[in-house]
Amino acid sequence: MERLQKVIAHSGLVSRRKAEELIAEGKVKVNGKIVRELGTKVGPNDKVEVNEVPLEKEAPVYYLLYKPRGVISAVSDDKNRKVVTDFFPEIAERIYPVGRLDYDTSGLLILTNDGEFANVLMHPKHEVDKVYVAKVKGIPLRESLKKLDRGIKLEDGMTAPARTRVISVDKKKQTSIVEITIHEGRNRQVRRMFEAIGHPVMKLKRERYGFLTLQGLSVGDSRELTPHEVKQLR
Ligand code: URA
Repeated sequence: MERLQKVIAHSGLVSRRKAEELIAEGKVKVNGKIVRELGTKVGPNDKVEVNEVPLEKEAPVYYLLYKPRGVISAVSDDKNRKVVTDFFPEIAERIYPVGRLDYDTSGLLILTNDGEFANVLMHPKHEVDKVYVAKVKGIPLRESLKKLDRGIKLEDGMTAPARTRVISVDKKKQTSIVEITIHEGRNRQVRRMFEAIGHPVMKLKRERYGFLTLQGLSVGDSRELTPHEVKQLR
């Protein structure tokens, strides 16, 4: 969601100052209703009209980012922390992340300005596999991981069955690297799942989203999705 005057200015129609004037003068409609409030926030699915003419829709763009840790999955942050769109300074389109990775999670994140596409991907029915690699405290027993594979009760209900695989174990440090595949996207889900079996996550990375991987990218790198990839994801 972004401020109305910013959205109008970004469309290239007029400057932000002029957009503010137009709003104050009652020349701007959002979803058919005149809006005079300068702070009004609008999203990609809101219909904005200036002087009865719909704002040109931006051409849709699609990117994949290898998000570093310590970055917010948002377009702005009131505490001025780094946000994922900071990695796209040269892009004029108003892109935003599809879903979220936690501040401390690294890995694959999709960004777009296509609201419909984002909604499809975030719908619970859109069951693509998301593969995470977690460094966890301790050495989980097979039986504990099986609980995750069967589905485990969290405070917001049972999780769908996951797939887990131990990649390595450090007996001296008492830590393990575990790959986990889930297709849901609840808030802090992987962290909460491991917490529930007594093995808190120390580090988390999303390695795969459906068929998309981080191949060829370093932390902080991004690339455009190909039209074929976008089509396959829908
Ligand atoms: N699960 C989590 O716990 N955190 C993420 O960032 C993504 C999935």
